[in-house]
Amino acid sequence: MNTQASIKAFDEAQTYIPGGVNSPVRAFKSVGGTPLFITEGKGGTMTDIDGNSYVDYVQSWGPLIFGHRDESIENAVIEAVRHGLSFGAPTQAETELAHEVVSIFDSIDKVRFVSSGTEAVMSAIRLARGFTAKDDIVKFEGCYHGHSDSLLVQAGSGLATFGNPSSPGVPADFTKHTLLAKYNDLSSVEKCFKDSDNIACIIIEPIAGNMGLVPADKEFLHGLRKLCDEHGALLIFDEVMSGFRATLHGAESITGVTPDLVTLGKVIGGGMPVGAFGGRKEVMAMLSPEGPVYQAGTLSGNPIAMAAGLAAVSKLKKNARLYPILQERAERLVNGLKAAAQKNGIAMVTDVRGSMFGFFFSESPVKNFDDAAQADHALFAKFHAAMLNEGFYFACSGYETGFISTATTDAMVDDTIKAAEKIFAEVK
Ligand SMILES: *Cc1c(COP(=O)(O)O)cnc(C)c1O
Repeated sequence: MNTQASIKAFDEAQTYIPGGVNSPVRAFKSVGGTPLFITEGKGGTMTDIDGNSYVDYVQSWGPLIFGHRDESIENAVIEAVRHGLSFGAPTQAETELAHEVVSIFDSIDKVRFVSSGTEAVMSAIRLARGFTAKDDIVKFEGCYHGHSDSLLVQAGSGLATFGNPSSPGVPADFTKHTLLAKYNDLSSVEKCFKDSDNIACIIIEPIAGNMGLVPADKEFLHGLRKLCDEHGALLIFDEVMSGFRATLHGAESITGVTPDLVTLGKVIGGGMPVGAFGGRKEVMAMLSPEGPVYQAGTLSGNPIAMAAGLAAVSKLKKNARLYPILQERAERLVNGLKAAAQKNGIAMVTDVRGSMFGFFFSESPVKNFDDAAQADHALFAKFHAAMLNEGFYFACSGYETGFISTATTDAMVDDTIKAAEKIFAEVK
């Protein structure tokens, strides 16, 4: 496969953009090689500037559940563009999308739109702190909630509960209110509540997608709900990735655990920059201008972004039967990959939630970040490069979730499995 034009484009990009990319994971650092520059997408595939075409299992890192250039989303955007790009005044599209979100999520009475998942989570946490009049938050190792200061934490030395900044530029003072717990380990959360009587909220990806796909156990989530209720803390489900991806009605509908606040992003913008956070009326009433907790955005609820989001979400709502179909197709993919790996003596564990799929080169089940880290990531890097060369675009890290879209066909899945069989025989 010839990727000369991408190599040249990346070289030039690095002259003007730090690392040549506007979001670090795109740089392919954890798998090596050069990122591909994309010119266009169509349905389940996309094409790079050298003219190579790929079956796309990244789908813009989640947003494109209907694949590239979905006709109804594209038309909605074009129609909206004709009326003006932004007004900084209310438009009815905001109310319409809000109405859809409220009707879909049992736990959401009111919702506020922002422009990214990072912003949604940052604002939801401020709201939880304002509502409870407490300062500390609990987050889990391996969960990603965007790049705001207080969420860029890593485990401290020894058994410390309080996290350290995971990036230079974040003062330790900004993360001293962030307690770290272990995913799927209730005792680690109980310890947080022993260490602090000042906990405003627990934030969790109920279906973690940022350490690979690692869903939380139901009992664990029920345990979190109970701890929050006992201690007057709020439970925030960060569904920026899993929202509208795993199922239509949110993780609450498959776990039976009701969060106080939900954060959304990715699919909710249909490919445009949208984030959202919503929850119970009493909590949302604390938000400015109704209440005292400040939050704002010049381009929040942008009419073009709302049009794309509304087209995507209303189409999902009308076609909820899509989810079992997507789930079946994702299972076909991971079961095929797993069988191909096994045939060559390579151990693999897999999981699927709706249109989200994950696999680890691991012999033991993956329940938390430590488990995900012990998987064979060197083998993943080889697999990634070889699959790319065959025309299959997987996320460029072993800690990412894969996505299929409604435009990903069974034939594409079968071709993927066939290519993987060949590659496993070579790399084993
Ligand atoms: C992607 C993601 C975010 C951040 O969203 P951005 O739009 O990239 O800022 C937050 N939380 C989760 C769970 C995510 O997957």
